[in-house]
Amino acid sequence: MSEEKVESKHFLEQLVEKDLSEGKNDGRLLTRFPPEPNGYLHIGHAKSIFVNFSLAQKYGGKTNLRFDDTNPVAEDVEYVDSIKKDIAWLGFDWGGQELYASDYFDQIYAFAVQLIKDGKAYVDPSTSEEMAAAKGNPSTPATPSPYRDRTVEENLDLFERMKAGEFDNGAMVLRAKVDLTSPNMLMRDPIIYRILKTHHHRTGDKWCIYPMYDFAHGQSDAIENITHSICTLEFIHHRPLYNWFIESLGIYPSKQYEFARLNLNYTVMSKRKLRELVEGNYVAGWDDPRMPTLSGLRRRGYTPEAIRNFITRTGVAKRENIIDVSLLEFSIREDLNKKVARAMVVLNPLKLTITNYPAGESLMLPSINNPEDESMGSREIPFSNKLYIEKEDFMEDAPKKFFRLGPGKMVRLKNAFIIRCDDFVKDETGEVIEVKCTYFPESKSGSDNSGLKAKGVLHWVSAEHAKTCEVRIYDRLFTVENPMGDEDKDFKEFINPNSLQVIETAFMEPALAAAKVGDKFQFMRKGYFAVDPDSTETKLVFNRTVSLKDGWAKKNKK
Ligand code: ATP
Ligand code: MG
Repeated sequence: MSEEKVESKHFLEQLVEKDLSEGKNDGRLLTRFPPEPNGYLHIGHAKSIFVNFSLAQKYGGKTNLRFDDTNPVAEDVEYVDSIKKDIAWLGFDWGGQELYASDYFDQIYAFAVQLIKDGKAYVDPSTSEEMAAAKGNPSTPATPSPYRDRTVEENLDLFERMKAGEFDNGAMVLRAKVDLTSPNMLMRDPIIYRILKTHHHRTGDKWCIYPMYDFAHGQSDAIENITHSICTLEFIHHRPLYNWFIESLGIYPSKQYEFARLNLNYTVMSKRKLRELVEGNYVAGWDDPRMPTLSGLRRRGYTPEAIRNFITRTGVAKRENIIDVSLLEFSIREDLNKKVARAMVVLNPLKLTITNYPAGESLMLPSINNPEDESMGSREIPFSNKLYIEKEDFMEDAPKKFFRLGPGKMVRLKNAFIIRCDDFVKDETGEVIEVKCTYFPESKSGSDNSGLKAKGVLHWVSAEHAKTCEVRIYDRLFTVENPMGDEDKDFKEFINPNSLQVIETAFMEPALAAAKVGDKFQFMRKGYFAVDPDSTETKLVFNRTVSLKDGWAKKNKK
């Protein structure tokens, strides 16, 4: 037997394979991604995008991008544009024109008229309180609305007049006549149309009645001949209604399937909540690098590959679960480690003088850009007698295990020489402001024949050659694993007050000055960083994408 690797398929892949092998839907596969344009996409949406588009890719199908824009109140073209940009960035192609549920309003209206004519829908002027009171509960049937048995003519007339704008918002609704005894409350004569005298971002003021989700989503699926309508588990109770409309209207029998949504700890993932953060200025916008939005992650330095690998690792399940956000961090680290050049940047500088190197002279030292990938070449780094190292890399009373600098200790300067600390200088407050060292010329990296040993390796920059930049370091936006978990508290109470630390002046090796917005680097010993769009001609701004410490991998090695 060959040792062929058996690829495990998730339940939706198995299902599609079966449908295709049985010749269902004439052998067609058409999925869709149906965002409501009421906010920017977040990492949870990436999962849905990935599931829908990769199923189609894998089995020779297609995926429609359809905006579910049936609620004019919260929707906006800004969101439409950002959603298209994010999907394209993830590397998926919806094959031409995007679609809009609002383009089907005439057809959906006609479906409603058809239901009325078949005695399956009625106009109800009951107040929402009256309707709620009549709804019953799962074990007690609903009380029929006094308007449930209006004649077809009456219903047609009222619905027509609703459409013509004769009635105020909330004056009446159109309800489907389904089943008042169903234990599924959604089947108890759900509202399918409401009056909303609001301008729509695409249809303008043409409509003042709008279909509800349950009477727009499935109908749009049918109009597009979607074969597999894949959504998240919270829609499972909608499925009987979805099917009831298909049967009642005799439309294309799309099939709805549900999978578990992506939940991440330390993260809030609802467009409504994210919008609260933006509108309340808790963050600097939808693309704030602390946001779990795709635009925020992109700005922070995440790559589409890392996000796709992360999504693959989370699997496609039928049961709710919570993913550790460190798995996302692991995925970006893993991707950037292979791809990006190393650089030396000192975030919190301490002067270091090489006492036996001539003042005013300098030397260029070759440095490999990425030890994981030789094809990325090398660059030259200037060395001189005045350097900066990190403050935290020196200790006056260094313990034995401190493999950095302290009186008498030896370390290697990365890509340069071994040095020994001979002395240090304090200011009047007692703070160490300068370290004095001897370097050993014969210990040069790459041609070391000094026989000297140094355990620690420090990053550094030459003070007179260094350029400055701003560095933004991020921590989790929330202090608790489940910011939505306390019913008595608003999730915003758990915002981490230290989620952003700005280092106004960091010192970088001069080669970095040529970096462009979006460029990514590993700052040695400090993490992965990306150039932020706030950068100007005179000042580069870097976002820390992720630290170097690999918590998730360690945890899972045990
Ligand atoms: P939100 O509450 O964040 O607004 P939503 O479900 O209302 O989410 P939509 O724009 O309606 O947002 O979602 C488009 C698609 O993305 C839907 O099919 C939805 O099921 C899916 N989706 C949303 N959040 C997640 C998630 N966390 N994991 C997987 N899929 C998701
Ligand atoms: Mg929504």
